[in-house]
Amino acid sequence: MQGHKANIVSQALTYIEANLEEQLELGMVADALHYSRFYLHRLFAKTVGITLHEYVKRRRLTRAAEELVFSGKTVMEIAQFYTDAFFDDCRKLNIKTPDVVQPATGLIDEYIQIVSGLMEKGYAYAAADGTVYFRTRSFQGYGRLSHKNLDDLQGGNRSLLVSGADQKEDSLDFVLWKPKKDGEPYWESPWCNGRPGWHIECSVMSKKYLGDEIDIHAGGEDLVFPHHENEIAQSEAANGKTFSRYWMHNAFLNIDNRKMSKSAGNFFTVRDISEKYDLQILRFFMLSAHYRSPLNFSAELMEAAKNGYERIVTSVGNLNYLLENASAEELKDGESALLEEAGGFASRFDEAMDDDFNTADAIAAIFELVKFANTHAGQESSKAFLKALKEEIMELSDICGLIVEKQEELLDADIEALIAERQAARKEKNFARADEIRKELLDKGIVLEDTREGVKWKRA
Ligand SMILES: [Zn+2]
Repeated sequence: MQGHKANIVSQALTYIEANLEEQLELGMVADALHYSRFYLHRLFAKTVGITLHEYVKRRRLTRAAEELVFSGKTVMEIAQFYTDAFFDDCRKLNIKTPDVVQPATGLIDEYIQIVSGLMEKGYAYAAADGTVYFRTRSFQGYGRLSHKNLDDLQGGNRSLLVSGADQKEDSLDFVLWKPKKDGEPYWESPWCNGRPGWHIECSVMSKKYLGDEIDIHAGGEDLVFPHHENEIAQSEAANGKTFSRYWMHNAFLNIDNRKMSKSAGNFFTVRDISEKYDLQILRFFMLSAHYRSPLNFSAELMEAAKNGYERIVTSVGNLNYLLENASAEELKDGESALLEEAGGFASRFDEAMDDDFNTADAIAAIFELVKFANTHAGQESSKAFLKALKEEIMELSDICGLIVEKQEELLDADIEALIAERQAARKEKNFARADEIRKELLDKGIVLEDTREGVKWKRA
């Protein structure tokens, strides 16, 4: 081995070891040593006999730290990447953005404050290694939500045992603050450099933005225990008030009647589904069962959902067509009575939704309304009648977050023509018209970009 190359590797090792306590990225190592990442990785493997990947693994970095290390990105960059991806999927599913989006990393002072308060009241204690635990038995009512008995839990629940469990007063106690691990980001606290336990983040955010008491708390059914049970214990011990009045837990999604899991290989993401289906269809599919019942995903059921969703879209399309061609404005004889009858479907819809959000029955009511519209709307119908039917369907669908009116898609050729018109307008210094065209395109989801090579466009 050439001395020069060995020297690079030992420099790299020194750098890694020295910085392991810090937020470490191997990309940063390469940059710091002024070598290309590719070269450094190759050389490391050849010289040390294991890959950098393996090396860091043997140094027992956590998975998250590993991802961080090998992507050459910072923690915040990775977090931003997943945040953006999440909101992108939400947008496509027509899920509204919350009024407040609070990153968990932004409230460290608040976590420390609430944990200190719990310690003062005797609900929590710090172990020798700096881990702070919640004294589960000190909270009356623990286990009420999940119908679990503390003594049964004590006997068999190994999932509660985490590393450092020997320092717990009681095996039921759970973590409020934990010491950092190598390569993980951390914050200072009175107990140790580390990070909050993940239950406490929810209690703090909920209190900060919604107050000590909330009406409804939702989540997947896998969160009932221990997560939500722990949230209740922390929040109620700290605030002395009922944490949440109602709990809504949704059941799992099964794939071909089997539980979805990474290890079983029957796992896919919203993105994977979006390659095959419009995500409105996925939304429709999920609404077709009550949220507390497990939902089975299969190709046939998705096809059925597609047909169902399209039945509503087609009906609205027909009403639009009839509306454009209708001659009479005002309601005709008999149409008022029909509209009154149609109102009955809306009442059925409301009743279903009032019954713990029974979306399956609510969708059935929309179907009946669609069938009614298809039967009674025709060329002879008045505009007022058609409009009322359409609005009724749109409104009920909108409550379910379903977009059932097809936006006309601009063809590539139409877009190009509008861009050419905009260029001409700009040449003539008619900037008002040029801006108008840009806005018109934007409204239809077309984003223009002025580059040195000319105007480029993409669908947003
Ligand atoms: Zn939570």
